Amino acid sequence: MKIVDFLNLKKINEIYSSELKDAVGRVIDSGWYICGKELKKFEKEFSDYCGVKYGIGVANGLDALTLVLRAWKEMGLISSGDEVIVQANTYIASILAITSNNLIPVFVEPDPDTFNLSAETIATYITSRTKVILPVHLYGHISNMPSIMEVAKKYNLLVLEDCAQAHGAEINNVKAGCWGDAAAFSFYPGKNLGALGDAGMVITNDNGLSNIIRSLGNYGSHAKYKNDYLGINSRLDEIQAAMLSVKLKYLPREISRRQHIAYRYGCEINNNLIKLPLNNNVKEHVWHLYVIKTDYRDLLIKHLNYCGVSTLVHYPIPPHKQKAYEVFNDKNLPVTELLHETVLSLPISPVMTDKEIEHVIASVNSFTK
Ligand SMILES: *Cc1c(COP(=O)(O)O)cnc(C)c1O
Repeated sequence: MKIVDFLNLKKINEIYSSELKDAVGRVIDSGWYICGKELKKFEKEFSDYCGVKYGIGVANGLDALTLVLRAWKEMGLISSGDEVIVQANTYIASILAITSNNLIPVFVEPDPDTFNLSAETIATYITSRTKVILPVHLYGHISNMPSIMEVAKKYNLLVLEDCAQAHGAEINNVKAGCWGDAAAFSFYPGKNLGALGDAGMVITNDNGLSNIIRSLGNYGSHAKYKNDYLGINSRLDEIQAAMLSVKLKYLPREISRRQHIAYRYGCEINNNLIKLPLNNNVKEHVWHLYVIKTDYRDLLIKHLNYCGVSTLVHYPIPPHKQKAYEVFNDKNLPVTELLHETVLSLPISPVMTDKEIEHVIASVNSFTK
């Protein structure tokens, strides 16, 4: 029997149950289920929370990423065959958004300490076809955006931030999603701000981009039955928007709890077979995942499982090694591949009790080879 769940969504949402049910009831009674006032309200609330002008609700995080690149193509800023710089150790969605737009992903080795892109490494991958940098704020840790934006300016590149894991992370008091030309968020149930279904959002300060994305996600239409683009159907529905408005209010509190747990892990886990993640600036990390590294992963998983502590691997296979990406299978990315063999995610969630936190710490500390 498990003592500590990896992530218990029922417990997370139970706390807000009556508010969530009120929100759903309000939408049911309104008779309006798509593109209505709940969506408008949540778009405004979330873009205000991040600190940008426009929020465009879409069906999920993958669509958010895909539609930004698609819109830049429609605007003539990029075209098929252009290169997009992205870290090789990301979740596959970041790469799918690139290849589905007939763009070329340039797999960049991450900084193994932050798991993110570093500006110095990016610079060595830039060619005459490079048009976009796509930094993924992996595990909830915002990338070093000041230095990445410097590289982008120097080489005149667009920046699309993948913020699917980093709602609310900030650097120099500026939140994830405000640094680049546009940013994509996911509200998949397991994300730090999770819907009770699928949902996503693009945020940007660019009014033109915002209009095109809104149109592309609605069959390429600006006005009813007039289609300017070959669009798709990608909308954030009223019920999800209403529930996300409820949950957004509690996001800062939930982030603080995650940061508190990470702080305790950082201070109290003490085992020289395990390397802990960097924890130098509290506000830069919102701890979607707490990812440690160890050369003894299989043994540690077994030990923790025996102790009743659930763990997961994010991620077991990098995108370029996936069967679906056979064309990239031969790429030589030793830093990325080593990370995929050594990373392990410990439980971290706003509903973990102090007792559970202590049990995880004690269990990790009692691990021997
Ligand atoms: C979850 C995730 C996505 C995709 O979000 P969905 O809502 O599941 O489509 C994209 N990028 C990263 C880094 C993610 O973790």
